[in-house]
Amino acid sequence: MTPRERFLAKTQPGPGDCLDWIGAFSGNGYGYFWLDGKSIGAHCAALILIGGIELGPGDTVDHVVCRRTVCVNDDHMEVVTRSENTKRGNYARVDPFASRREGEDVWTR
Ligand SMILES: [Zn+2]
Repeated sequence: MTPRERFLAKTQPGPGDCLDWIGAFSGNGYGYFWLDGKSIGAHCAALILIGGIELGPGDTVDHVVCRRTVCVNDDHMEVVTRSENTKRGNYARVDPFASRREGEDVWTR
């Protein structure tokens, strides 16, 4: 089994065109995945394994499309540098289990 297959086995279709992580979660609400002997964020693994993007040290991943931390659709994310991310202050606002109804802008649990 390739890492990509191992990764996809822990996902399921989410709301809209989200791809939800159903594997292990860490305390900060983000899923994690073991890759090359270390655990990384599942959303980061998505970019690496599915998006084919190389993440540099200090880079983080922002859910620009759906703002759901459980989502691992690489199309819903954007790589941001650490300083840019702090400026945006996104992480405090993201609720990992939030969802929203089609056409509504309100996120609820
Ligand atoms: Zn999504």
